[in-house]
Amino acid sequence: MEDDLESEESFQEKFSKLWLLIKESKSTTVFTGAGVSTMSGIPDFRGPHGVYNDPWQGMSVEEIISLPFFRKNPEIFYHWAKDVWYRLENYQPNVVHRVISQLEQRKFIKGIYTQNIDMLHQRAGSKNVYEIHGSPAVHHCTKCNKSYTYSEIAPIVVRGEVPKCKVCGGVIKPDIVLYGESLNSQLLEKAWDEFAHCNLCLVLGSSLTVQPAASLPVLALRGGGKVVIVNAQQTSLDASAELHFKDLKQVFEALEKKLK
Ligand code: ZN
Repeated sequence: MEDDLESEESFQEKFSKLWLLIKESKSTTVFTGAGVSTMSGIPDFRGPHGVYNDPWQGMSVEEIISLPFFRKNPEIFYHWAKDVWYRLENYQPNVVHRVISQLEQRKFIKGIYTQNIDMLHQRAGSKNVYEIHGSPAVHHCTKCNKSYTYSEIAPIVVRGEVPKCKVCGGVIKPDIVLYGESLNSQLLEKAWDEFAHCNLCLVLGSSLTVQPAASLPVLALRGGGKVVIVNAQQTSLDASAELHFKDLKQVFEALEKKLK
């Protein structure tokens, strides 16, 4: 097993290999998980110590953020969500978001697939961001399907009100994939295709324990692509990865220097 403290020498050696892989890859696809958000101070929603596991007013968070619960109790749903999902302006993109955006601008990265719903990749300037679990960037009326933006809805939720449609009065729902809802199949198909055909797949801040996160780098490997994992915890794919780092901050600060 790898030592927890990586020696400076072995980091430099591995980092040089990573830089070469990024530069030489014709098609690099990135997958980001909760570890990238927690670096910005956003609580981990799903991890072993994630807020999803803390009961809230006697209810499990998994129950609150399920579709049946939302339909029955939108006021409780929004009361929970207001401090978690509607104060995103309190958090700033970190070095991982910034570097990914710069790499994308310089055509090193083709697409960014994320499980995170905090929109920080977009705020860092990334363009091709695919949010597998959706995000509150867009909301829809549950009756007439009229769409609303985050900035229209957030102030209403923060005031403690349930957002209602201006046209029909229906309850408005964020485009976040709740428990009991299926993932966007078109987006999944795009992800499968892109990962199966990439030269290089960067897995950042994900332990690859939930689907579809777990299957995407496997597709990359099957298609002959190389996988690089940067994650604090071990993952099931570490042995198949070309390179494995533990510290996102260390790797991305080094990349940021390279890009200057
Ligand atoms: Zn409506």
